[in-house]
Amino acid sequence: MQLYNKLSAKERAELIEKAGKDRLTLSFYQYAKIENPQIFRDELFITWNALDVLGRIYVAHEGINAQLSLPADRFNAFKSHLDSISFLKDIRLNIAVEQDNMSFLKLKVKVRDKIVADGLNDDTFDVTNKGRHVDAVQFNELIDDENTILVDMRNHYESEIGHFKNARRPDVDTFRESLPIIENDLKEFKDDKKLVMYCTGGIRCEKASAYFKHKGFKNVYQLEGGIIEYTRQVNDSKLENKFLGKNFVFDERRSERITDDVIARCHQCGEPADTHENCANDACHLLFIQCEKCKAEMDGCCSTTCKEIHSLPFEEQKALRKGQGNSNDIFKKGRADHLPYKKDLRNITENFNTDSLKE
Ligand SMILES: [Zn+2]
Ligand SMILES: [Zn+2]
Repeated sequence: MQLYNKLSAKERAELIEKAGKDRLTLSFYQYAKIENPQIFRDELFITWNALDVLGRIYVAHEGINAQLSLPADRFNAFKSHLDSISFLKDIRLNIAVEQDNMSFLKLKVKVRDKIVADGLNDDTFDVTNKGRHVDAVQFNELIDDENTILVDMRNHYESEIGHFKNARRPDVDTFRESLPIIENDLKEFKDDKKLVMYCTGGIRCEKASAYFKHKGFKNVYQLEGGIIEYTRQVNDSKLENKFLGKNFVFDERRSERITDDVIARCHQCGEPADTHENCANDACHLLFIQCEKCKAEMDGCCSTTCKEIHSLPFEEQKALRKGQGNSNDIFKKGRADHLPYKKDLRNITENFNTDSLKE
């Protein structure tokens, strides 16, 4: 029986094209006690592979986090399967704001230690003691409240291209890094301010809100369903949309446009731009923001060195890479020193400090 993805991304893309069917991109998560993640994982793979589901799914003792696409006409069968699993019955599915048949090109179901890496021990705090869930209407009201501190729980490269007005955006690479930083910066407001947080789809706030409550914050709120569900509610109910720009997503689409505002800058020339590119040099693949003009001039590369390597015949590139492994720049997510407009967020955007809150 097939338990692992066998087709390459290219082969899969051709199959999707040939099938000519609309696919639906969606995500969901659930914190639940899963006794044997490996067995659960194998069952999911077998069932979903048969339904032509593609995506990235993490399973752990603490629950499941799934981002995927499936043929629209298989949706009912997929939903029935979810409903047959006790802790996934009637789960809210976050339907992508911008659909793209090619959002995922492989089915990967992985067993992990955690569905959200937090760097904490399991018994540090009670993850079920979470903050108050708010919908778009309540969230908009909270944002306008002068007693609110609004915090973006995502990483720097996500909030760079889109965020809520007046949100504090910690300059962090990972979720685990953000928890102690935010706690330290806001510790004097534990009693009297409202700590309101949001993330992409809600999963990070489930944990963060429980963490901050555990650390003594009295009034903790989280945007239920994150930016994705907020956008749906705002569009459905014609509410004011207080988000600016794009919602970063972790699939081939890289982002979904929520509003027309372009709030970021090209990391190479500094002109307004908010499209993330992976450096075209296979040995680099740095994720950075590049405008159309620089993309054309640089052949999609992040530096002149990468451009030179990228222009070499494939065999020569391969020879250059031999024994070198991948460049560390892959993990720098736009922090590489040679990008003039993205050295350190702290230099170019507002500080993550609380001066404005102090009377
Ligand atoms: Zn540019
Ligand atoms: Zn590069």
